[in-house]
Amino acid sequence: MRRGTLLIHNGYEADPVTGALGVPVVQTSTFAQKDLAGRQEFDYARSGNPTRKALEETIAALEGGAKGYAFGSGIAAVSSALGIFQAGDHIVAAEDIYGGSYRIFNTFYKRWGLEVTMTDSSDPENIRRAVRGNTKALFLETPSNPLLKICDLKTCIGVAKEAGLVTIVDNTFMTPLLQRPLELGADIVVHSATKFLGGHSDVVSGLAVTSSEELGRRVYAVQNSFGAVPGPWDVWLVLRGLKTLRVRMEAQENSARKLSRALRGNKNVEAVYYPGLDDHPGKKIHDGQSSGAGAVFSFKTKTTEQALGFLSRVKYAAAAVSLGGVETIASYPVKMSHAAVPPAERRRLGISDTLIRISCGLEDCDDLVEDFENALK
Ligand SMILES: *Cc1c(COP(=O)(O)O)cnc(C)c1O
Repeated sequence: MRRGTLLIHNGYEADPVTGALGVPVVQTSTFAQKDLAGRQEFDYARSGNPTRKALEETIAALEGGAKGYAFGSGIAAVSSALGIFQAGDHIVAAEDIYGGSYRIFNTFYKRWGLEVTMTDSSDPENIRRAVRGNTKALFLETPSNPLLKICDLKTCIGVAKEAGLVTIVDNTFMTPLLQRPLELGADIVVHSATKFLGGHSDVVSGLAVTSSEELGRRVYAVQNSFGAVPGPWDVWLVLRGLKTLRVRMEAQENSARKLSRALRGNKNVEAVYYPGLDDHPGKKIHDGQSSGAGAVFSFKTKTTEQALGFLSRVKYAAAAVSLGGVETIASYPVKMSHAAVPPAERRRLGISDTLIRISCGLEDCDDLVEDFENALK
């Protein structure tokens, strides 16, 4: 079965009791235990819920993994996946990851004794050099946030495997429709389902998928003991969003292609960063590991005033954080997603105050092109 069909026929397309096509929202905290000696599948809703199970099995199938787990947010999925490690362990992470992931490594987990080295993963040799005796994991995100740099998943995962590391990949930007890290040898994939998977800017949610049952048991132990689980309504919204993921992704990617090309020809635009453009430095690697360029790109204006002017004049793009929804979003990383990254570090990473990140929505693309060109005048 192809993934477009799997989105619709996920094993939960008809409820066995009532025939309902919508997955029932099981709004309960506990389950009556029929037989105190025996064990039943659901006993308490932090430990498991039938609505949540439908989403967990669906994302596991979509990513080609053994086990899937749902969380109350993307960052809960990231921090719960990292929760399988312990004080004294060392993790190598890509340096231009989501700002909230950067923060969980460098503040929260640092206090709990998890060591991290952040490095430019667009050169796999940097990863090899960062590995130490106590290194246990490699954490990657490609395309990266917010500059859409590409890391070669197969080569980086190869380096990790040689060193016996668990590789975790944040696949939020691509979704399993466009990129499947587990098929390239990764061990855990994490998602902010708040973005393309939910797709409607109406829910905060996260997911993790493991390649093996054994890693699944380790992530489940964190999910159940740390307890960052989603409620059934939020899970249901993600399940509903997934059904239209393919058509949304295709349309939004088409818009991103057109809009990024139009911006590249604009005289007030300094640079456009999008793996769908022919001159993107990582395009060849990206095309080898993904089946599309996605719907997120970034651009730099020539001056800060132009960037701020664009954000105040643009009509069809909300100046907001987040991405992956049906509405186009223009975010300003220095003040939003990457505000948690120290200014000197931001400058080193190229996250300037002329940088704007765009997530293309489902508006008519010609309107977006006109609107963006007006806003850049
Ligand atoms: C948004 C995002 C996250 C965090 O997800 P939340 O749902 O906001 O907690 C993690 N990684 C990436 C790439 C994201 O875009």
